[in-house]
Amino acid sequence: MKKKFLVRTYGCQMNVYDSTKISAIFLANDMEEAKCQEEADVIVLNTCHIREKATEKIYAELGRIALVKKFSAIVIVSGCVAQYEGERIMKRAPIVNIVVGSHAYYKIMSLIEKVERGTRHVSDLSFDAKSKFDTIVNFDHLSSISSFLSVQEGCDKFCHFCVVPYTRGRQYSRSVKEILIEAEKLVDSGVKEITLIGQNFSSYNGIYHGQSRWNAGKLISEVAKISGLERIRYTTSHPIDMDESGLYEMHALEPKLMPFVHLPAQSGSTKVLRAMNRKHDIDFYYRVIEKFMNNCPNITFSSDFIVGYPEETEEDFNETLDLVDRVGYVQAFSFKYSPRPNTPAAKMINQISENIKNQRLKKLQELICKKQLQFNKSKVGEEMEILFVKNGKKEGQLIGKSPYMQSVFVEIPLEFQQKIMNNIVKVKITKGFQNSLEGELLHSFAY
Ligand code: SF4
Repeated sequence: MKKKFLVRTYGCQMNVYDSTKISAIFLANDMEEAKCQEEADVIVLNTCHIREKATEKIYAELGRIALVKKFSAIVIVSGCVAQYEGERIMKRAPIVNIVVGSHAYYKIMSLIEKVERGTRHVSDLSFDAKSKFDTIVNFDHLSSISSFLSVQEGCDKFCHFCVVPYTRGRQYSRSVKEILIEAEKLVDSGVKEITLIGQNFSSYNGIYHGQSRWNAGKLISEVAKISGLERIRYTTSHPIDMDESGLYEMHALEPKLMPFVHLPAQSGSTKVLRAMNRKHDIDFYYRVIEKFMNNCPNITFSSDFIVGYPEETEEDFNETLDLVDRVGYVQAFSFKYSPRPNTPAAKMINQISENIKNQRLKKLQELICKKQLQFNKSKVGEEMEILFVKNGKKEGQLIGKSPYMQSVFVEIPLEFQQKIMNNIVKVKITKGFQNSLEGELLHSFAY
């Protein structure tokens, strides 16, 4: 009987990508996916450390797993909490057999073998991005129309609130050749939309043929040449990299590149940006937005915001509201500042009270929702190319993705459904909601 595995993913796209690779390693080793925890022989928690209490949440989850796991199941903690906590995890939660860091999971099968041979607890927290990416993964088992492709990992920017440089290591860019090979494999397996991901995709500088180094824009221009690939996206970016990245020009030149940029701002106040060590002021951020818009007039933006950063005044916060109002993000993630252990911001003395953080977060999120709804309603009447990816809950309904990342719900006559699923089809937008759009097939589709 085949061994069964279960992979649970927490956090960002990098973790989603890593989980896909971990699953691919298991599938390539003749294992199959378990339907539930009770039947799994191997359980992996691929963890994220970006939010407060992430570690506590993982311990709570391990407690629940202990109650229902198969007696002989091997429990693995991977990802950023594993990297950060290390072997402390196994001391506090003895049901954990393997702790494996974000760069070492490619060795997961040999770690499992050690446990099967009788070693109760093993760990590998080594940093070696090259070996991780060199791991051969069989994509034949994976079927999806849209896929992440990791091109860069780690970060050298050391924002004062962030643990990523400590959990994912220093910045590493994969070579152009490796990325093209993986992109071609994905397209051969049916993928039509690739999102190139990296902690700082905008600072990509991978080697081309062992000689020159390519920036993010040039990489996109080469990936776009793959026949059968229809859409390219990327995430995430740092404003400070933009002038060197070649991304402004690429948005003007490459039709496969979607007009959507995730450009974390964190704050609208220059004072707070400096305290965060973001390495730019707010005028620089506005100039970056302007350059994108000059190159691609229909471009849209999403962002990340932290409210209640130490020393943030009401005036600083109002500058963040002003930024959101002026840019009109179509999506944004906003969080209350929470100290991460051993980061410079955690040691700042003027921490903001929870009460003020809550008030500011509420106000910011109300404004973000208002701008998002405004944008979605402004699309009513437009014809838009939608990539259909799954069935909706209502009978006859398919769900697609707009170029600007909204889900689009469309009622499709039964006779067209097969033809439309997993394809890009033009629809007319008829309604705009808070988080989605509704549309209808163009009359011309039938002919
Ligand atoms: S740029 Fe800053 S926030 Fe982003 S991963 Fe690097 S240190 Fe963290």
